[in-house]
Amino acid sequence: KYTIAIVGRPNVGKSTLFNRIVGTRKAIVNDISGVTRDRLYEKAEWNGSEFSVIDTGGISASNDVFIKEIKEQAELAIKEADAIIFVVDGHNGITKDDQLVAKVLYRSKQPIYLAVNHLDNIEQHDLIYDFYSLGLGDPYPISAVHGNGVADLLDDIVDAFKNGTNGGVSDQDQEDQIKIAIIGRPNVGKSSIFNSLIKRNRSIVSDIQGTTRDTVDSQFEDNQGNVFTISDTAGIRKSGKVIESTEKYAVLRAQMAIESADVILVVIDASTGIQDQDKHIAGLATEEGRAVVIVVNKWDAIEKDNYSMKQFTEQIREEFKFLDYAPIMFVSAKTNQRLDQIPEMAIKVDNNHKMRIQSSILNQTILDAIALHPTPTKNGKRLRVYYATEVAVAPPTFAIFVNDPELMHFSYERYLENQIRKNFDFAGTPIRLRIRARK
Ligand code: GDP
Repeated sequence: KYTIAIVGRPNVGKSTLFNRIVGTRKAIVNDISGVTRDRLYEKAEWNGSEFSVIDTGGISASNDVFIKEIKEQAELAIKEADAIIFVVDGHNGITKDDQLVAKVLYRSKQPIYLAVNHLDNIEQHDLIYDFYSLGLGDPYPISAVHGNGVADLLDDIVDAFKNGTNGGVSDQDQEDQIKIAIIGRPNVGKSSIFNSLIKRNRSIVSDIQGTTRDTVDSQFEDNQGNVFTISDTAGIRKSGKVIESTEKYAVLRAQMAIESADVILVVIDASTGIQDQDKHIAGLATEEGRAVVIVVNKWDAIEKDNYSMKQFTEQIREEFKFLDYAPIMFVSAKTNQRLDQIPEMAIKVDNNHKMRIQSSILNQTILDAIALHPTPTKNGKRLRVYYATEVAVAPPTFAIFVNDPELMHFSYERYLENQIRKNFDFAGTPIRLRIRARK
């Protein structure tokens, strides 16, 4: 189902790692550079997940085709793998050939795990820091020969497969579906929207009773064949009214719904306007870093002139400053106005929530931003930004390496975030910056 490709220049320990992962000695390890080998596929298993591993070590002997071969094996990995382990030698620093491989990998949509090999003991782990500058995220210190660090690496890869954040088709169908939660204070129309979505679309499995808590999930399929799960926390359709009448339960319900969802629909009642409790509930979704769409319901119930949608938008932007990235939809569960656009919107923000930005393009964006607006200074010392890299998705999280994090000003951080948003479509998802020191 899943394929992991191991890439890297010759003699960094790809085959040793391959053997370590597949647990046999099928690959022929040869220390003499340039021995022609076939690329090798093997099945492997970790933490109960099965996958295939490719050792892309097919390097040919001749020197002039050498560069081409390195590029080709990396390209092959990008094409055939769901995740890529890029192996480098921790004792050699970044070589020209490493850069060559990295350059091809930057184009990859698949996640790349940078394994810094030959680090046989903890004292050598500092050697990983040089490799941050490849812009491929946090490097993993490993020793393919002794096995150190390989378990952590595989844990992360397999976890990402399970969570659907690596490429490929997930083990369980359910993991592929977008999970939607509808939250909002009582009577904004959550159950009406819920029922409408289920009714208007092809309802697949209804009423899967949650085992551990009072949750009922329903699934539906839109006309494009995309499958969605909506969690009906504490029974939006049931007589939840009494329970929900206190703020405490409304919040609890929202929290439960948010916990298991990818995309949160924050429902507001157009006929009553924005209230404090709306803000409170919406705030929960941001804290958890979920993708958010603001749904203004009962749009049929208000007197509209040509400006009201614009006015309402301005009001929302003013009141929900912390959700400035969330798209706003104006719907009516009563007339079904624009409800058919909800699945499409959910897919869009879910994609943005999981989007990966190539480090080379990200770094160019940061460089451009700094050129446009110089970094802040403090006590005569200027903030220096070395490089940035996306270290996680859902929500997209960027590590920004600087000379001294103390020199970062929140307004400059905000500026960098805005520049990132300007260059990439992160509508509907929070993004996070982690400012880290790099000597
Ligand atoms: P919940 O408590 O958030 O689940 O809200 P409900 O879905 O139970 O809706 C509360 C009330 O608002 C009900 O009387 C609905 O009929 C009404 N309602 C829901 N959606 C709309 C809408 O789009 N327009 C109008 N005019 N009324 C609505």
